[in-house]
Amino acid sequence: MKITIAFLAFILASSLATAQDVRVGVFGLFHPRQLAVSAPAGSALVVHIAGKSLVLEESSGVNIADIRVGGDNVVVRVGTHIFRAAKITVTSRNGGPADFNLAIAGKITRHYRGALEVKPDSRSLSAVATMDLETAVASVVAAEGAVDTPPEALKALSVAARSYFVAGKGRHRDFDFCDTTHCQFLREAPASNTVAAQAVAATRGLVIAYQSQPFVAMYTRSCSGRTLTPAELGLPSAAYPYYSVDCKYCRQHPSRWQSRLSTEDAATLHSSNESSRLRLDRRLGWNAVPSNTFVVQKEGEQTVLRGVGQGHGIGLCQAGARAMAEEGADFREILAHYYPNTVITTLGGAPLR
Ligand SMILES: [Zn+2]
Ligand SMILES: [Zn+2]
Repeated sequence: MKITIAFLAFILASSLATAQDVRVGVFGLFHPRQLAVSAPAGSALVVHIAGKSLVLEESSGVNIADIRVGGDNVVVRVGTHIFRAAKITVTSRNGGPADFNLAIAGKITRHYRGALEVKPDSRSLSAVATMDLETAVASVVAAEGAVDTPPEALKALSVAARSYFVAGKGRHRDFDFCDTTHCQFLREAPASNTVAAQAVAATRGLVIAYQSQPFVAMYTRSCSGRTLTPAELGLPSAAYPYYSVDCKYCRQHPSRWQSRLSTEDAATLHSSNESSRLRLDRRLGWNAVPSNTFVVQKEGEQTVLRGVGQGHGIGLCQAGARAMAEEGADFREILAHYYPNTVITTLGGAPLR
């Protein structure tokens, strides 16, 4: 009998993190030394720490777990109790995904749905939210798409974002993806009545595949009038051989930018090299060099860059997808245009196109 119960517990525990769950490192950009987890009104959370389980619930008067770094441990304060342990996890009452708020005091509060794990990582806290694939996709589409983006463009983005999550796991040491544009920009899960959530629901389980394998579908805010290939930007070739395709909208309505760099900074930037652009942007901010298509001009002590497009320029162009949707294209036509020679399939299923 004991064996049966242990076995059932094992089955239950393994069902909490399914193959389609996504482990997202959140707030890493802030290198937080303090975090607060709280239960939204009307719901309860269970904090697991040092072998104990504590309930956070607004109605009980104990609603917040304050988490700080304490050497190799986290120091957690819940009400009048203080705990010290290697990590803290937060789940729903039955041990599954929960709705929770995560905050850095005075900086940011976000609402997530998933299971949370926090542990120390080189003097700051590493927070990883394990969420359902569809929740993760919706959180990306809501972060990337403007409120007035046409539904078919959001559906195309949903399929690309889902494929990226399915095929691109393991991009970081302690989790699969971060929440910045290094992986995919991810904020909160949208409410179910938003266009973003509806676009994700309408394409539930759909991914884009090349030679029957889903691939990391890269996308960009806008392009230079044609999309770029990894080879053009000095990147290693990917599982999908990206093509340079015409983008009518960006060709006719280029999104122009101008940026001034010091001569030393400009010297570290090599044209048509995504790695050098990212290195510089990480140091100077994401607007220092917005895209890979630019001309360079020396003006006195400074170097002026004049360019077009936003983002690396590879794969689906969001500005172009939006224009195609406005002209009546559906998400399949948009995906076929920006990712030639691919098919849309259901996860683990047969090709649909
Ligand atoms: Zn990342
Ligand atoms: Zn474009």
